[in-house]
Amino acid sequence: MNPSTFPSQLTAALLTVGDELLIGQTINTNAAFLGRWLTDHGILVMEAGTIKDDHSAIVRSIDRLLQKVDWVFMTGGLGPTEDDITKNAIAEAFEDALVVSPPLKAHIRALLSRFGTDEKGIPDIANRVPSNAQIFLNERGTAPAILMNRGDKKLFALPGVPMEMKHLMVDKIWPFLEKFYHFKPLPRKTILTVGLGEPEVEKAVSKIRDKIPKEISLAYLPHYSIVKIRLTVNGDVEPGRSGQMLADASEAVRGVLGKFVFGEDNETLSGVVGELLKARGMRMGTAESCTGGNIAHEITKVPGSSDYFEGSIVSYANDVKIRLISVDPVTLERHGAVSREVAMQMAEGAVRTLGVDIAVSTTGIAGPSGGTSKKPVGTVWIGVSDGHRTEALAYSFPYHRMGNIEAATIRALDRVRRRIL
Ligand code: ATP
Ligand code: MG
Repeated sequence: MNPSTFPSQLTAALLTVGDELLIGQTINTNAAFLGRWLTDHGILVMEAGTIKDDHSAIVRSIDRLLQKVDWVFMTGGLGPTEDDITKNAIAEAFEDALVVSPPLKAHIRALLSRFGTDEKGIPDIANRVPSNAQIFLNERGTAPAILMNRGDKKLFALPGVPMEMKHLMVDKIWPFLEKFYHFKPLPRKTILTVGLGEPEVEKAVSKIRDKIPKEISLAYLPHYSIVKIRLTVNGDVEPGRSGQMLADASEAVRGVLGKFVFGEDNETLSGVVGELLKARGMRMGTAESCTGGNIAHEITKVPGSSDYFEGSIVSYANDVKIRLISVDPVTLERHGAVSREVAMQMAEGAVRTLGVDIAVSTTGIAGPSGGTSKKPVGTVWIGVSDGHRTEALAYSFPYHRMGNIEAATIRALDRVRRRIL
């Protein structure tokens, strides 16, 4: 292997500090964000650890990780409150002392006056950083990000508040690093499927596995009825070849999965449905019982959804189903609210009431109570209508309440997608 063609791989470790992460009070979204960000920029993340707000534990972890990887990214405990001890620990690990940084002090003062906070309320420690630190000023809070160098190794410490951490990473640290490094992401593609289980997806792909080069690794990532297939070209392939290799492999995967594929990489199901509606000049609406507006929420998370989304009728109570979308009380009485007939009438009623080209409906038992032997928890009927043709399908989801709502939302969006295709 020629070293000039394959420059050495930068490695990183993540260190998230905070008792609240260890006791499960806060979900460690910082590690997820940083892991993804670094990987997306071609940096090999070797390890991610979480430790207590404990001085010597922080010092030891910094020392150990800096021996192991090129860059360490820490978050948490940088603020000015009593439980924020990361700065002191960093100073000790680097045999440094905390000193007042005049630019930081000025920045905090300006920030606080902008927020209308009295700067006297902020302790002096907020203005201090290790004397050898390079700082990145935070526009969203008082704690700056800190860079410490040890030989050619680097330690970045960022505040724990996720919004501040992202801001510093994306707007400050990355532009700084990009002046010195040319980041090359690992060639990777993710194919998104909906409607098949993980084993079914894997079985389908296994039929064409021999057409995919060994240098491409496959991973299957399920999330309810969405399964992502991640194709990664490993580092031994010359950069010039990997693009074509990946394109051929994803073509083969898409071919074997057909209409179950709804997109690639960062696309979302609601975004893809929106694009399809827009391309056909169609407007849609929803009539939601067990999903309680969650389909509408998914759709309206997409910017520009007003181009194709008319609205939703959250017809949770039978009375609302009857009054707002003309579900027949006799049908409700005879078949129950969770039935094919009601799902179909709901979809048809939504088309009329909302004046849309297509509507999707949900009626089901999200749980934990309300299930019967004939209609157990997780039973959901999903109806689709364009005013001319109406159909409904039953699903039985095996999850808890929020999982059943999420799974029903995904399937409902997919029913719309499949109808438009
Ligand atoms: P501040 O200046 O706000 O005190 P800080 O750097 O001291 O910032 P922490 O006190 O450790 O940060 O955490 C602040 C908030 O950010 C807390 O609500 C905490 O739960 C949250 N937080 C900290 N670390 C993480 C993490 N790894 N993932 C998600 N949230 C986190
Ligand atoms: Mg704090």
